Amino acid sequence: MMISKQMNAALSKQIANEMGASHKYLAMAYCFEDMGLKVFARRFMEQANEERGHALKIAQFIQNVGGRVVFEGLDKPKCDYKSAKDIVQAAVDSELTVTAQINDLMAKSEKEKDYATRSFLQWFVDEQVEEVATMTELLQLVSRAGEANLLYVEARLASMMSTQKD
Ligand code: MG
Repeated sequence: MMISKQMNAALSKQIANEMGASHKYLAMAYCFEDMGLKVFARRFMEQANEERGHALKIAQFIQNVGGRVVFEGLDKPKCDYKSAKDIVQAAVDSELTVTAQINDLMAKSEKEKDYATRSFLQWFVDEQVEEVATMTELLQLVSRAGEANLLYVEARLASMMSTQKD
């Protein structure tokens, strides 16, 4: 095994964190469905899939370095958001939490002189910059528009989704 037992456990924990984020985005997507905001719902559904992809990417890395993938249970995601802004704010907070988790893993890899894991995690560091930036941008849009104009934000979001891939 190319990584320590502790690093194996920490990476497995991050699989649960990413799956938890996916679960949370799914719950958020259905809140948007309930609010009649279909484009938001689709955007958050895509985000849920992306987070699942992150979890699987970590699982594959653990396999590649001869470790063992361990899955954990997931917490029940919050389902009673008051407004669209409330949801997007929670998404920003969630991305900041994940960023801190990735940073902790990165610090651990450096402490252990585990350069394979460090190199692997660099992709996640860059990904988090992207995730926080796009969610913050969406929060600014929603805040600026206000609840009454969310359909305009939906139109903007739809055009953003059709021009940017991944
Ligand atoms: Mg992620």
